Amino acid sequence: MISKDPFIGLEPVVLWKHFAEIVSIPRPGGQEDAIKEWLANWADKNNFLHRRDNAGNICIYVPASKGLDNSRTIALQTHLDMVCISAEKSSSDPGSGKIDVIRDGDWIVAPESTLGADNGIGITAVMALAESNDLLHGPLELLFTVEEETTFKGAIELDPSMIMADVMLNLDAESGELIIGSAGGIESVIRWPVPTKPIPEDWTVFNISLTGLCGGHSGIDIEKNRLNGIKGIVWLIQKIKDEVPICLCEISGGDAYNAIPIHSETIISIPPTEIHKFEEIIASTSEDLARQFSHTDPDLTLSKTIIDNLGIRCWSDELCNRLVDLLSTIPSGVIAMEQTSPHLVETSNNLGVLEVRDNTLGIVCFTRSSVWDAQEQVAASIESASRLAGAEFIPDPNKTPPWRIPYHSSLLIIAQASYRDLFQREPPLATIHGGLECGTIQEHFPELDVISLGPVIQNAHKPGERVSISSTAEFYELLSEIIKRLSS
Ligand SMILES: [Zn+2]
Repeated sequence: MISKDPFIGLEPVVLWKHFAEIVSIPRPGGQEDAIKEWLANWADKNNFLHRRDNAGNICIYVPASKGLDNSRTIALQTHLDMVCISAEKSSSDPGSGKIDVIRDGDWIVAPESTLGADNGIGITAVMALAESNDLLHGPLELLFTVEEETTFKGAIELDPSMIMADVMLNLDAESGELIIGSAGGIESVIRWPVPTKPIPEDWTVFNISLTGLCGGHSGIDIEKNRLNGIKGIVWLIQKIKDEVPICLCEISGGDAYNAIPIHSETIISIPPTEIHKFEEIIASTSEDLARQFSHTDPDLTLSKTIIDNLGIRCWSDELCNRLVDLLSTIPSGVIAMEQTSPHLVETSNNLGVLEVRDNTLGIVCFTRSSVWDAQEQVAASIESASRLAGAEFIPDPNKTPPWRIPYHSSLLIIAQASYRDLFQREPPLATIHGGLECGTIQEHFPELDVISLGPVIQNAHKPGERVSISSTAEFYELLSEIIKRLSS
């Protein structure tokens, strides 16, 4: 059933009341001022002290319930920003605070855009807890970080004096499970000169594009084996190059380091006498790709158009060969599964973006792993390939470490017992092949005991993002119980 006010009658009431407000506060990564102002006002109204650090994070200090001043201080951490994406031609525009929201059965949904339940439910859950008179708790430190969805700046540059707690609950999980580990990440950037050589005057120029791919999150969806758009176009260029003389003029694809590319383009020039053979190769490659990826990318389309050859430049044969070799050597997809849990991805790499910026072709990759050395090894192999090709490699100054809590963590034991007692079932434990801020924050506090939990959120970072109402209630109940037990 779809109701008019999607939030009417939902529990916990205070959580949903605040959530209904934040859906109209724009908060893309790097533009969190409005939501910070809104939170600071809320803190002032409730007489909670608050502080900001130079990174832009805000921490709100909620005093202990009466008589519990000496209880353990607990940090509750969420991120302020959200991914702002709308479907084509939609009136929803999260970046300007306009999100159409509906209720559909057990779901609160933004049918045409992202919803910001990631991490808005976490934000409003801690607000509701802080306002609650029923929950008895020690001092609470509500830490709201900035730029999680883009650069991790908030977590990386966190001022360690912001929190005193030795235990932290990260509320950015999306599966309803207790998350005990997440992957680290290394972004590698390779720079390549743009083409400078004029193409032969009488050659024909084609623009070829690969579209209709499913893509997805480069961590969570990497195991689905979908076609990486950049890889697809590189394979095509290799096939053409094997049989037809070409000038490679342009190649581009992908939108973000952490998204599997859903499109790619190339501009190629060939002698007019070779057009027939060229078209045959495109047709056969198109069939081959469609067959190989019929399950994962049923809508993939390879198309070509002839374009004007005026002023178009190309790489020399040698540079073209080296560039294509480099792009075909860079791994993309799952590289290793966990040694002890072979159903989970341990290490992967995403060849994410290929674009011209500042007169240079930039190649951006993102390696993830739950094993620090493994992600270093993959990044090193990309560096080696770049060196062999003669490209400039730029190492990541902000590598994020994998995060894993030990099974004997006292916080985990309390969280598991709370879950069992509340819901009369075994708590599902999981690790994710995505990035959480836990590992990065823990670098500032090696002794910090951390776990991550949250409601069930689907289609995060995509139009159609939705959050389960019943799991939000369970998440809130579990969070309250863990805090109660930690405080007693
Ligand atoms: Zn998130």
